[in-house]
Amino acid sequence: MTEVTLSNVVKKYGKHQAVHGIDLGIHDGEFVVLVGPSGCGKSTTLRMIAGLEEISGGEIAIGGRVVNDLPPRERNISMVFQNYALYPHMTVRENLGFSLKIAKRPVDEIAKSVAEAAGILGLDELMERKPAELSGGQRQRVAMGRAIVRHPDVFLFDEPLSNLDAKLRTQMRVEIKKLHQKVGNTIIYVTHDQVEAMTLADRIVLMRDGHIVQVGTPLDLFNTPVDTFVATFIGSPPMNLVDGEVSGGTLSLNGGIELSVPASARSLVRDGQKVRFGFRADNLMPVGHSVEEEGETAELDLSVTLTEPLGTETLLFADLAGVEVQAKMFNPRPVAPGEAMKFRLMLDKTHVFDAASGKAIRG
Ligand code: ADP
Repeated sequence: MTEVTLSNVVKKYGKHQAVHGIDLGIHDGEFVVLVGPSGCGKSTTLRMIAGLEEISGGEIAIGGRVVNDLPPRERNISMVFQNYALYPHMTVRENLGFSLKIAKRPVDEIAKSVAEAAGILGLDELMERKPAELSGGQRQRVAMGRAIVRHPDVFLFDEPLSNLDAKLRTQMRVEIKKLHQKVGNTIIYVTHDQVEAMTLADRIVLMRDGHIVQVGTPLDLFNTPVDTFVATFIGSPPMNLVDGEVSGGTLSLNGGIELSVPASARSLVRDGQKVRFGFRADNLMPVGHSVEEEGETAELDLSVTLTEPLGTETLLFADLAGVEVQAKMFNPRPVAPGEAMKFRLMLDKTHVFDAASGKAIRG
């Protein structure tokens, strides 16, 4: 069993505190993605788990064993980095087996492990090539193969796809997910890309300024963000946010449009409370071009300012009480800028946040 447990883990660089006492329990076989904006402390956290960075406080346990003072090689982890420097003068086979050779493993054991990793990653045809003769994606697969051959308890990935172009990144994402399904190891994966986090993770750990803001499944974070930071970080396009004020069960948006306060927040808001009203583009759709119409809705007449056709749907930018919001048009037809359209807002899918704290108000 290889759970990874962080208890009140702190990292200080001199006076600067990069990680503020985080607690996190990762289950055996779980794929956990640490995500957040640049500088939020995700790489530092991963490097502390790997043993590449000393911890300034707290405790890290891998498989029930406290590893605070163990060097990286005794933690039974494998790390795949963004710069997956392969040895240029070695073949793929030699690159794959190198760490086992250094560890003086028997020759037949090395051959078996290398063959197994090559099979899992589809490298069989490439074994005698040198890195210069491989594509970016193939090199990344060799880098992952190098991690697999050691049969680690935990894989640590530090932004492994950020050097690849968009198309290759999508392909490799699928390969990493397949790899996890095949080998079933615990994976801790760092990225700044919310799409990678959403598509790969069993659970996402969203960090900001050295703190964990929210931990949950991708859909937990998407559907029930704890604050406006999560609401706008997770999901594309980001959630629309419009300032509003509550008065007698009515929400007045930006001094213009009035709506009834969504049921999820109705009993929790007070008169005069300043809020931020949030909704996703998917839940504001032109009448006649929408999907899923169950639940409470509100009709809004809005003027379209810009369109972005995406094929199956068109993203519409529209003016809502002076704020530019994004809406989705399904079964799209051409829309001219300036066109006034009737929209339906799925009120049950909307969010209310306290304006001062940014925290979700949800029953
Ligand atoms: P992320 O991976 O989320 O981009 P990092 O974990 O790399 O963030 O960094 C977290 C914070 O710690 C940042 O403010 C960064 O500047 C700081 N930091 C990281 N490494 C060092 C270091 N070796 N010395 C001093 N400060 C560092």
